[in-house]
Amino acid sequence: MTTIDFRTPEALADAERWTAHNYHPLPVVVAEAEGAWVTDVDGRRFLDMLAGYSALNFGHRHPALIAAAHAQLDRLTLTSRAFVHDQFAAFCGGLAELCGKDLVLPMNTGAEAVETAIKVARKWGYQVKGVPDGQAEIIVADGNFHGRTTTIVSFSTDPEARADFGPYTPGFVVVPYGDAAALAAAITPNTVAVLVEPIQGEGGVLIPPAGYFAAVREACTANNVLLVADEIQSGLGRTGKTFAIEHENVIPDMYVLGKALGGGIVPVSAVAANRDVLGVLKPGEHGSTFGGNALACAVGSAVVGLLRTGEFQERSARLGQRLQDGLSALIGKGLVGVRCRGLWAGVDIDPALMTGRQACERLAERGVLAKDTHGSTIRLAPPLVITEEELDHAVAQLAAVLTP
Ligand SMILES: *Cc1c(COP(=O)(O)O)cnc(C)c1O
Repeated sequence: MTTIDFRTPEALADAERWTAHNYHPLPVVVAEAEGAWVTDVDGRRFLDMLAGYSALNFGHRHPALIAAAHAQLDRLTLTSRAFVHDQFAAFCGGLAELCGKDLVLPMNTGAEAVETAIKVARKWGYQVKGVPDGQAEIIVADGNFHGRTTTIVSFSTDPEARADFGPYTPGFVVVPYGDAAALAAAITPNTVAVLVEPIQGEGGVLIPPAGYFAAVREACTANNVLLVADEIQSGLGRTGKTFAIEHENVIPDMYVLGKALGGGIVPVSAVAANRDVLGVLKPGEHGSTFGGNALACAVGSAVVGLLRTGEFQERSARLGQRLQDGLSALIGKGLVGVRCRGLWAGVDIDPALMTGRQACERLAERGVLAKDTHGSTIRLAPPLVITEEELDHAVAQLAAVLTP
């Protein structure tokens, strides 16, 4: 059924012609997708080992999510928050329960949810903790990725993300990632929050040492500082648990969620926290026209429904072990390092062999889609619906790419 008439080069040239070049995509033009597979405009099939940077944890077009979206499209899509709609409470309540928190504040993109967390932490600092006006400090980690707004890139340590976008928002203190003592030492009476990723995804799937988050939690509690976990990429089943920070048996004061929360259909993000924290916001102080819209809430509720069963978390943990075993066997055969948690892997290719970009280009030629992070590191984050055979296939293609 495959008719190759090579539409890809023209489609690529068109995309180049009409957009700002703020991305450097692999030369693949996708037309259709289902589950763990995408099909390009020339009918070629690719196994998706990136899953929209974890926005597609449940795979492309999961039937339950598509059904929820279709049903909602036929009823109501948007009211704005000027009115309440009938999907709102179910989504926010279901998500709050999943998080074990009192309240949820829905937004759209991840960066908006991070901005929301920053605003809430600052307001909490002034109104509850008693920090002098304008003095609030938030501690963040070296190598962080929290989004692309001007405030968020202000505390990025990646020159590519930050340079030439100043003047920068003050009020952030950067400490090394994974060093709890350095973090504790950076806390001052004006510290309102610690904002950190449980695992640094963009950083290359960097997993902090065991005990790090327990120590960070202790320092935050002892100093009346909010622990804010950015689980936008690490959360919602990716690591074999609902939240990556669960692996550390730590409960943050605020969860920041996004990506998979929208089921790969609509942008849905949120922060979840208890009333003593999120309750500092009063009408008019924060908002979003599209935040918590009916379509987003219907899809988000269906996502929460999938996560409530625990099936995806279990699958991620089980298949993650298989991924880790497969990748670990390639150490010394083209790989120099592998970090795995659930179905999420940072794979360090021997830099003498090729860059991460070259590896991803060769993987694409073999029908596997992945993305490099930095230098010679690539990230694997397949949809959690991937089968064992498909996972083995992806690892075999990587092995072939690494073989001279
Ligand atoms: C993707 C991501 C964000 C930003 O989300 P957007 O939807 O792209 O704005 C923030 N934090 C982390 C950890 C992310 O992975």
